[in-house]
Amino acid sequence: MAGDGPAALPVQLVEQPRLQKLKEMFISKYGSAPKFYARAPGRVNLIGEHIDYCGYAVLPMAIEQDILIAAEPVQTQVVQLANTNSSYLDFSTSVNNIQINKTKPQWHNYFLCGLKGIQEHFGLNNPTGMNCLLDGTIPPSSGLSSSSALVCCAGLVTLRANGKTLSKAKLIEFNPLRATDVRLPSGAAFVIANSCVEMNKAATSHYNIRVMECRLATKLLSKSKGLDWKKMLRLHDVQTKLGVSLEEMLTIVEEVLHPEPYSTEEICKCLGISLEELHSQILSQNIQDVSTFKLYQRAKHVYSEAARVLEFQKICSKAPANALQLLGELMNQSHISCREMYECSCPELDRLVDICLQFGAIGSRLTGAGWGGCTVSMVPTDKLSMFLKNVKKSYYQMDGQRLAGENNSLFATKPGRGALVFVEA
Ligand code: ADP
Ligand code: MG
Repeated sequence: MAGDGPAALPVQLVEQPRLQKLKEMFISKYGSAPKFYARAPGRVNLIGEHIDYCGYAVLPMAIEQDILIAAEPVQTQVVQLANTNSSYLDFSTSVNNIQINKTKPQWHNYFLCGLKGIQEHFGLNNPTGMNCLLDGTIPPSSGLSSSSALVCCAGLVTLRANGKTLSKAKLIEFNPLRATDVRLPSGAAFVIANSCVEMNKAATSHYNIRVMECRLATKLLSKSKGLDWKKMLRLHDVQTKLGVSLEEMLTIVEEVLHPEPYSTEEICKCLGISLEELHSQILSQNIQDVSTFKLYQRAKHVYSEAARVLEFQKICSKAPANALQLLGELMNQSHISCREMYECSCPELDRLVDICLQFGAIGSRLTGAGWGGCTVSMVPTDKLSMFLKNVKKSYYQMDGQRLAGENNSLFATKPGRGALVFVEA
């Protein structure tokens, strides 16, 4: 049974209709009341796209939408899972024999990943069974990390049910990035709008090609500057080794690389290697048949986007009177760079960004990997309701045709709270 798990916040259920409802559903499903609740938020990336894998920091914000789980440890060694959304089917398994089917991304597998992660971390040899009921408000598969929220929330539930704690510092250790809090200026809301274009399978190869283009740019820049190019993997490494600013890196890109696409032959010539070596030592398996690469544009995007993230953070900490204007401008520049230099936008995302700016957003950009998915816009609070109405009309109800999923596709969000465990007061 639950011992001294992670610090749990006492809450008044009567003041929380969503919790109250979840509790009632839990009782009718399992015949007893939940012992505790856990939540984990979704997140939206405000700025800093496609630069994490180049070694640069990004700026995600927790949103209000979350995964919420009501739970009760039980005497039997069985985990039972249910969902308030009936399209996610009930599931149950023994806690001692967790099988995760990687070929079928069914919802319970995400839960089991969080559960197993905690079991393995603590080497739990007698884990408790539990009954769980989940309620989620993050639109799935839209780049808002509903899956990660689900995994984290399941991890929290497992911790609490087994009377274990994990310090905050340890939680951050899972992630190699350092985390710094950034205080956003008041007076604006962030609006997430889904383009309703799914980032489909084809996008996966776009993604892999971008990763490789960044690596090739790293090699060519390193070679031209006399660095040990074979050891260099990320654009950030080049900057660190040269010890120069991002602005200087942009100048170096201008000097060293050309805007015309590079053929594999030219890349080999620059690096002094054979085609075979290029294929076996640098290019990954899944992009062996790509024959031209845009290195100048990708490197320009990465170094300029990394500089925008730092600038965004600086403006937030200095909070000048025109902070919102300045942040909006950075978001707009970021979108233009994604569209022109990184080519990870699509006509629908560009249209949605234009519509958002037309109806009063101070800044608007694609968020997530791109090629579909969502935009994030910064909208003055006093213009918010008109903004939502107009965007809905222009993008989601064009020519009398409604796009699927409209209700879940456009919403304002405030910075959300972090993951949390709580109990009824
Ligand atoms: P993203 O993480 O960008 O939202 P993914 O495709 O990685 O998109 O994850 C979506 C999956 O997460 C869903 O298919 C489902 O399995 C799971 N998921 C998300 N929200 C819920 C929910 N409310 N209940 C159950 N499973 C959910
Ligand atoms: Mg996901």
